[in-house]
Amino acid sequence: MKVPMLDLSEQYQRLRAEMLTVLDEVMSSSRFILGDHVKKLETDVAAYSNVKHGIGCGNGSDAIHIALQAAGVGPGDEVITTPFTFFATGGAIVRAGAKPVFVDIDPVTFNIDPAKIEEAITEKTKAILPVHLYGQMADMDPIVEIAKKHGLFIIEDAAQAIGAKYKGKNVGELGTAATYSFFPTKNLGAYGDGGMIVTNDDEIAEKCRVIRVHGSKPKYYHHVLGYNSRLDEMQAAILNVKFPHLNEWSELRRERASTYTHLLNEMLGDVVVTPVEVEGHYHVFHQYTIRVPKRDELQAFLKENGVATMVYYPLPLHLQPVFQELGYKEGDLPEAEKAAKEAVSLPMFPELKVEQQQYVVEKIAEFYKK
Ligand SMILES: *Cc1c(COP(=O)(O)O)cnc(C)c1O
Repeated sequence: MKVPMLDLSEQYQRLRAEMLTVLDEVMSSSRFILGDHVKKLETDVAAYSNVKHGIGCGNGSDAIHIALQAAGVGPGDEVITTPFTFFATGGAIVRAGAKPVFVDIDPVTFNIDPAKIEEAITEKTKAILPVHLYGQMADMDPIVEIAKKHGLFIIEDAAQAIGAKYKGKNVGELGTAATYSFFPTKNLGAYGDGGMIVTNDDEIAEKCRVIRVHGSKPKYYHHVLGYNSRLDEMQAAILNVKFPHLNEWSELRRERASTYTHLLNEMLGDVVVTPVEVEGHYHVFHQYTIRVPKRDELQAFLKENGVATMVYYPLPLHLQPVFQELGYKEGDLPEAEKAAKEAVSLPMFPELKVEQQQYVVEKIAEFYKK
């Protein structure tokens, strides 16, 4: 049996007729940039996040960069974030001209540990950038409290967490702004790159809209330095077809996750650590990530047996060569470093079959019996 990490073909076959219709519509209209399809998606995704504004942009990395810039983060500022995330989180902070300050993670959720944030705050701190990793939101209440106390912005990197909830609140409701990615492998994926910023803040929303068109307002007059980062009509039209299915897909992911957890606990007991959905959270399982001993050997064994797995992420940001000049060394953020050695993500997508899940878990059990 072969089990891929992700297989988008079944989803496409189901939506194919609708996709071809909307793509023909876009191409026939000759309107490719910032038209009605983008507007509709912005409105729908903002409403879904229970906030006023959605601003489509080129990708999820730019969404973070634009949101930071719109919040006034720039040279001389520090932004507190997690080291255990995709590179783009840290990259966006540096591209905005600011300095990332990494705070270690909670080993249970893999998200930033709020108890360690306050000691990292200096007079230069301007924002906190929590990442809702794997589809579960960071522990937002203490983060909001700290941000209020110190007058900081919160930009939520929700690239992996569209649809997630925390104590009844949506992504984007508790922070100053939140950012989504529509990279094809994300829970709501385009057929190319795409991203969006959502916010309740009128002023920040307006600044984001200006920054994504070269800082142009009115057209051809530039008061701020922006760049070209727009969601295009083709991608928005595709996403408008997919968006009504998002909740159903999240539910299917959650079902697959409980099947994995059930099978793993039954067949492996304490050998692997299964993911925890913290009370009050709605986890959308962008990834199903476990902690295991002998991770690299397990991964190689599964690969030989046709099971794809991925390590998100093998090297925390504070140890990335490009961030060397920030001055971190091994041992500085032990929980993130430990997670980078133990975490492995199993195949996860709404169309994953239970027989495939059974096979994956059987193979994991076989590896540890040897
Ligand atoms: C995917 C991802 C991004 C970047 O999104 P792109 O659309 O690929 O630019 C940022 N942060 C996290 C946590 C991600 O998973």
